[in-house]
Amino acid sequence: QKFIVVTGGVLSGIGKGIFSASLARLLKDSGINVSILKIDPYLNVDAGTMNPNQHGEVFVTEDGYEADLDLGHYERFLGINVSRKNNITAGQIYFSVIQRERDGKYLGSTVQIVPHVTSEIKDRIKSMDGDLLVIEIGGTVGDIEGEVFLEAVRELAFEVGRENFHFVHVTYVPYLRTTNEFKTKPTQQSVQLLRRIGIHPDTIVVRTEMPIDANSLFKVALFSGVPKNRVINLPDVSNVYEVPDVLHSLGIHRLISEKLGLNIYDKFSWSY
Ligand code: ADP
Repeated sequence: QKFIVVTGGVLSGIGKGIFSASLARLLKDSGINVSILKIDPYLNVDAGTMNPNQHGEVFVTEDGYEADLDLGHYERFLGINVSRKNNITAGQIYFSVIQRERDGKYLGSTVQIVPHVTSEIKDRIKSMDGDLLVIEIGGTVGDIEGEVFLEAVRELAFEVGRENFHFVHVTYVPYLRTTNEFKTKPTQQSVQLLRRIGIHPDTIVVRTEMPIDANSLFKVALFSGVPKNRVINLPDVSNVYEVPDVLHSLGIHRLISEKLGLNIYDKFSWSY
């Protein structure tokens, strides 16, 4: 099994969910058996108790699970039915670790974030099927709650072999109207945060309000140590259902499959 892990930098709400769903769709249309998993670092056990004004729609899966709205993106973009298995929250992970502790299953050990919570996360990830698993980690790199999940995927990449993992960092580069320039500093800092915890991104998706200039994009590549061809600009589109087409024309599915050693054929067809 191969893995693509999508992390977010700088801000939340920059389109990490739409990107993950679109990428998974492209890879599915390339003949790969893809499955997708959303990890939510919040402590709610599911999204059912969350205020929609704060968090957006609650998406109810066919097995009755009240999930994050990103699962709705996955169904609509991938044309599949998702279930409770496709979403992990920190609340579920801690709940089961504490339950196991109360049941005496840790046989006297001191129960800790590392290795017990990280093992629980890795076990949940490993239980997913598909030849390729796309894992979207909610929130932004640097969030305290997200750290344990990043540590778990870092460990898993080490265990299954780094060549089977592809880390995509979706980040935001703001445009400053007053000085007429794109500002890459926040992105540099978020890549540094990722590297500090031992994750070196393989691809960077630069979200911008409008198309970015080549110089700024090169700066992102240089400072983050990611090859220029895998630093990709994804500007705002007027309709999010255009994103799969945009990604297809950028050839991101080919770049990633090549790096992961996946053989693909292109039968992408998308209309909305
Ligand atoms: P995240 O997962 O990063 O929190 P989402 O994928 O949920 O973000 O997207 C946040 C909002 O931005 C949604 O309303 C979505 O429709 C919109 N959006 C996402 N990607 C784009 C894009 N490329 N262009 C324009 N709007 C986008």
